[in-house]
Amino acid sequence: MTARRTHHLTRQIVIAMVAGIVLGVALNRVDTAGWVQLFVIDGLLHVVGTVFVSALKMMVVPLVFVSLVAGVTALSDLSALGRIGVKALVLYLATTAIAVTLALSLAGIVGPGEGFDAGETPASFSGNDAPPLTQVLIDLVPTNPVAAMAEGNMLQIIVFALLFGIAITMSGTRGTHVLNLFGDLNTVIMHMVEWIMRLAPYGVFALITRTFATQGLDLLLPLAAYFLTLTAALAIQVFGVYPLLLRTLAGLNPLTFLKKMRDPAAFAFSTASSGATIPVTLHTVEKKMGVKNSVASFSVPLGATINMDGTAMMQGVATVFIANVYGVDLSLTDYLLVVLTATLASVGTAAIPAVGLVTLTMVLGQVGLPVEGIALIIGVDRLLDMMRTVTNVTGDAAISCIVAKSENAFDQAVFDDPEAGSVEAATQRPPSHSTA
Ligand code: ASP
Repeated sequence: MTARRTHHLTRQIVIAMVAGIVLGVALNRVDTAGWVQLFVIDGLLHVVGTVFVSALKMMVVPLVFVSLVAGVTALSDLSALGRIGVKALVLYLATTAIAVTLALSLAGIVGPGEGFDAGETPASFSGNDAPPLTQVLIDLVPTNPVAAMAEGNMLQIIVFALLFGIAITMSGTRGTHVLNLFGDLNTVIMHMVEWIMRLAPYGVFALITRTFATQGLDLLLPLAAYFLTLTAALAIQVFGVYPLLLRTLAGLNPLTFLKKMRDPAAFAFSTASSGATIPVTLHTVEKKMGVKNSVASFSVPLGATINMDGTAMMQGVATVFIANVYGVDLSLTDYLLVVLTATLASVGTAAIPAVGLVTLTMVLGQVGLPVEGIALIIGVDRLLDMMRTVTNVTGDAAISCIVAKSENAFDQAVFDDPEAGSVEAATQRPPSHSTA
């Protein structure tokens, strides 16, 4: 497999994204005939895009469960599990706190919202309560694992899979049969994920074209300061903070990392859901970056659920924006409260589109700002959601690499190999009997 062939798919996905944006914006601007809306935008593009996202989501629960059970059973000693968990948790919380601080500082300097005419945006927003942290903790243990899987409750699935995996390791020879089965199942399910990745150019194109055709960019203008401040903050996090952490904490080449992130970034951008992107993130982190399954199977789904740096950044910039619009001065205590609440809200935020707006009510409530302020930014949220989801997913992958490196669960040769994890090669290979 040549390097050219290997990058073929990634290149196609990027082309599909750009073509989707151009066509979507064009469809939005020109006065299209009714049939274009009916048959193309709400017909073909809607069906292809939705089927693509459904196919991705279809893989999430089986993949996370099987992969995590296989990952836990592959650990030579169970104390590693505790270490991996603590490291991932601490790094996830720390990067989120850094992210909000960065976003608040930038927003403090730029001052988005000053002189903004609130009458320009007619949308309204009614707050929806986010669950309190106590409930998040109580909900960690499922009363019914099958229900947890049916609902796609990621934290509950993680808890059950961890306990199940530990029990397998402690069950002697009988456990070994189950262990081998899960290793094989993991390979089979990854193969299915690779099929979906091959369809990505079509899915991404349909999703993006429809989003831009429906969304339009007119709403951006009055909110340009908010939009650009947040975009800049997200870019600093992705291209500055994560590379710095990768370099200093793991000695990894950030450019190689960013190049390998292109596929999951395109999926995150087009689906606006880190949850739906889990299969691709997991595939990339394991097969292209060299993180061992024992770490990735835990850190990726956990990260997708509790690590939302981009979302927390939106909450930081949005708080400053809304405070400026309403002429409220935020004190240092308010800023600290925003950092704390946005970090904790990120833990309780589901990995689905637009949910960050819901937890923003928590953050605004903490500093006494009106929840209706959210109505002002709702018009540009879809686009920002797509970008912050890319940030969220990049953070999950970066921390997975750092934790794996520190645990000696990292294959440097895979990371350094630009051709590693080629989906083209994988989907054409003959059936393998490896349980790796
Ligand atoms: N869409 C984001 C995600 O899934 C969450 C959000 O910011 O609304 O990562």
